[in-house]
Amino acid sequence: METKLLAADEAGIRLGAQLIRSGEVVGMPTETVYGLAANALDPAAAARIYKAKGRPSDNPLIVHIADYAMIDRLVAGKPLLADRLAEAFWPGPLTMIFPKSELVPFATTGGLDTVAVRMPSHPAAQALIRESGLPLAAPSANLSGRPSPTKASHVLHDMDGRIPLILDGGECQVGVESTVIAVGEESVRLLRPGGITVEMLSQFCDVIVDDGVLHQLKEGDQVLSPGMKYKHYAPQASVVLLDGDRESFVRYVNEHAVDGVFAMAAEEEIPELLVPVLPFGGEGDEASQARVLFDRLRESDEKGAKTVYVRMPDQSGVGLAVLNRLLRAAGFHIIRLGEEENHG
Ligand code: AMP
Ligand code: MG
Repeated sequence: METKLLAADEAGIRLGAQLIRSGEVVGMPTETVYGLAANALDPAAAARIYKAKGRPSDNPLIVHIADYAMIDRLVAGKPLLADRLAEAFWPGPLTMIFPKSELVPFATTGGLDTVAVRMPSHPAAQALIRESGLPLAAPSANLSGRPSPTKASHVLHDMDGRIPLILDGGECQVGVESTVIAVGEESVRLLRPGGITVEMLSQFCDVIVDDGVLHQLKEGDQVLSPGMKYKHYAPQASVVLLDGDRESFVRYVNEHAVDGVFAMAAEEEIPELLVPVLPFGGEGDEASQARVLFDRLRESDEKGAKTVYVRMPDQSGVGLAVLNRLLRAAGFHIIRLGEEENHG
């Protein structure tokens, strides 16, 4: 199959909507990461998404809507708290999970009787949903297991020959996938951190951070968000998280500066490092780290990195999402610098 790459302008959106109505999969920009969009109500279209990504079929898809009225057909009920959160954070990078209606096929929900719903803020995503007149199932547009795409070129790299069209809407503004929550009457459970932070949600209700957000699941653990059990976001290189201050980070990396070793480092750390650097935003600026994270992981592949050292990001704000993705990219490999020095 030939893969077209078009600007996400009127003509691009029109063609994209046509393809989606005929059951095809289209690469679509959103404010979080690029998605692979198809008709969420058509099991065959959902199956095409799984095939294009090589995604395990029990890992559910998020359904994207463009106005709030669309949700009523998709869910079998929602708590009042969901209306308040939607009012505050939609359109935007928040995904909420509800019991699904009969209209939503199990092929879209990975066999679950719940459905995850989000209203994206990116104008091209909204236009594609409106023009096709359908709710769109859309996971991140990477091959399963690879870093998520934040540029159209990333999507082309992974999906060339697998889908008919990619719409280029520029670089994604948030850079990490949406926050995923299960909504109760008075509290929410955070299953995946993202652009809508714990601090922001806490202004409306209690927020329970699920164990799987920062800890490796053990065999037999109950998994509320099936995506959490899979290897994720991983480049070819081994990613290693270094937990320590700037000085000990720089010292550790420089002491291990052999061929193939790279550092993902803040602007402030770069001048002191003796290895090739993948610039990783400003020190303590979590939003800038989130924006470039996946691009830098992909760049490490292009540059042939064997090991990439990254300093543990701060957990506040969108930093929790950055840490969550890095932990998975690193397979939970963390070196605590103080302890390492004590032992060595
Ligand atoms: P991605 O499509 O790559 O952004 O990943 C979407 C993630 O949302 C999945 O990996 C799931 O963990 C989560 N998700 C989607 N639908 C549900 C659901 N019905 N219940 C729990 N988690 C869900
Ligand atoms: Mg994904």
